[in-house]
Amino acid sequence: MKVLRRIKSLPEYECNSKKCNDAKITLEEFDSQPIYFKSVIRPMLAIGHEGELVIWLKNIGILQHSQRCNNLIDNMECQGVMNWMPAKIIDQYQWKCKKCPKKRNIREQSVFQDVKCRFKDIVRILAGWCKGTDVEALTKLLCVKKQAVNAVYNVAASVAHKYIQTNLSRWQLGGPGTIVLIESYPEGFKELNSQEHFQNHIIPLICIAEIKEIPTRFWLQVLDRYNPNVQEQVQNANTVALHIIQEIVLPGSILVTNIDSKICSFDVLQSLKHLYPVIISKDGLKRHDHLNVLLDNFETIWFPALRICNEAQYYSNAHIQNFITNFLWRQKFENESFENLLHQMCYNFI
Ligand SMILES: [Zn+2]
Repeated sequence: MKVLRRIKSLPEYECNSKKCNDAKITLEEFDSQPIYFKSVIRPMLAIGHEGELVIWLKNIGILQHSQRCNNLIDNMECQGVMNWMPAKIIDQYQWKCKKCPKKRNIREQSVFQDVKCRFKDIVRILAGWCKGTDVEALTKLLCVKKQAVNAVYNVAASVAHKYIQTNLSRWQLGGPGTIVLIESYPEGFKELNSQEHFQNHIIPLICIAEIKEIPTRFWLQVLDRYNPNVQEQVQNANTVALHIIQEIVLPGSILVTNIDSKICSFDVLQSLKHLYPVIISKDGLKRHDHLNVLLDNFETIWFPALRICNEAQYYSNAHIQNFITNFLWRQKFENESFENLLHQMCYNFI
């Protein structure tokens, strides 16, 4: 993410320390942002206070509040009430059954069930995800295993993805009379994009931008790869893209697109005319004096989204959507990304 953008043709997880030097920050600097982390979390990370953090995670509902014993006795579950007990283990606490000797890990059934690092590292990794920190840089800063950072990042992305999908209206763009630009990556950005690598295995994305406020709000979504010369594949990609537009772009928006692109061209978008009565091609913009200024600003408007699309190409198929989710989350919640993520993790048990 932040650190990686200039590392050409190296997969994201393989950047070496030399190239990551520009990202070096101290733990103290890292812990000072965002404010919520500094004021609420940092005091619980001080040496000797680790137990407080674990109790706090339980109290806010990130860890289970209570636990029943699942020990099998004569093929019957014990079901005894379990007590939260201090323990000389890495998590500081464990559940202990009142009726039998069974103990249970306090991470059980939480989203961190399969994560293998201390809770103080977990909360820092979550904060890192919310700041768009690169995995490699965070691994070095916290002296933890890369797998641990990746595991927590995956948890964060899946919680965020679930929230976005069930609250899609909060990410919707446009509205009556608002201009919304539609492009597909990479074909719509040929003139703006200087990056030529990835040509053989590029992942296409649909890119939607709302021209209303600054900073511009975007929606980006991965499309399946298609061969531009195979009509059926292009058609399928268009079907998916049109569906995404209907989900994200509010009716009455003024859509601006290209005449000659394969995906979401002026002609393809005509099938949504009942929702968006005004659809204009970029060439058509020239005839609208009050919109003409948009043409001069295309590069500036799209710059943040294009950067994300280019960076996304460094990720594996499995992780590209997580990367986009991270972008959408941070775009929405900005400096409050961390507390909003924690909030969504509460009572989100497996
Ligand atoms: Zn028991």
